[in-house]
Amino acid sequence: MQSETTILYGKPVVQHIRERLKTDIQSLATKGIIPGLAVILVGEDPASRVYVRNKEKAFKELSCYSKTFQFSTTATETELINLIQSLNQSTEFHGILVQLPLPSHLNEKLITNTVSPDKDVDGFHPMNLGLLLQGIPRFVPCTPNGIIEMLKFYNITTEGKHVVILGRSNIVGKPMFALLVQKFKMGNSTVTVCHTKTQSLEKITKQADILIVASGVPHLVNGNMVKAGVHIIDVGINQVKDDSVKGYKLTGDVDYDSVLGIAKSISPVPRGVGPLTITMLASNTIQAAKNN
Ligand code: NAD
Repeated sequence: MQSETTILYGKPVVQHIRERLKTDIQSLATKGIIPGLAVILVGEDPASRVYVRNKEKAFKELSCYSKTFQFSTTATETELINLIQSLNQSTEFHGILVQLPLPSHLNEKLITNTVSPDKDVDGFHPMNLGLLLQGIPRFVPCTPNGIIEMLKFYNITTEGKHVVILGRSNIVGKPMFALLVQKFKMGNSTVTVCHTKTQSLEKITKQADILIVASGVPHLVNGNMVKAGVHIIDVGINQVKDDSVKGYKLTGDVDYDSVLGIAKSISPVPRGVGPLTITMLASNTIQAAKNN
């Protein structure tokens, strides 16, 4: 029998978190502190430019400060490291973010690891990832943190649930695992992480009470691969060519229509997890300003 699937929109979650952040921003303002984010952007990648523009907009709306340091594609490691080292000392910027991907001649790890762990609002620094694994997180990577907020907002509990994560990237899959496995209220899950070498994927996805899909493969998951009543978080953002004026449409990693009536809930693409990532970045930047 088919049942109704709840659509987990990101916007109400964002509004809810922003209300919480406003209190912190106001209390910092009384001390003359405006949370500041430095964004380092190298090259002309259109997706990165859109993402950086959206960050600037969100920070402005929250009365926070952000500044983009733009470099040409030919920027050198030394130039970027010098800038990051001076930003590490700055009192104006509480958070530093290096927009990825970087051009291939640049050592991404070396550059991102130069960001002080105290200003690592992306939560990618080995020290912050280590703290997360130890269960004492400081800066949690933004997308997994946003997913936890989404689950909490829609009263989807994780304790004792089997959560299946598709994807083992450093920015989504692995930190998602590290959060859900902790002895936290929004944790205490039994977690299975799948990847490209996973065999019989369908057998595993069918066991999920909560399925988090971050594979970057459009429509990897369909209605035949999930059990009735599953909650699905679709993280994927893929541009798929179509006949529209833009020439493409955005689609997730889940064949949305095929899971309707089977899943208990699903986050859509677009308008699902996407808007939460930037909000959690603002949240981390405010946290950094408070720590400071
Ligand atoms: P990634 O390419 O770094 O990692 C993808 C992961 O999926 C890999 O670990 C790989 O092993 C796994 N995978 C790929 N094909 C698979 C298959 N057939 N079966 C099982 N596992 C498979 O990607 P990422 O950076 O983690 O991003 C994943 C998706 O999420 C992308 O579409 C990206 O655009 C999107 N994303 C969205 C947000 C957001 O704010 N909503 C943030 C980050 C990433």
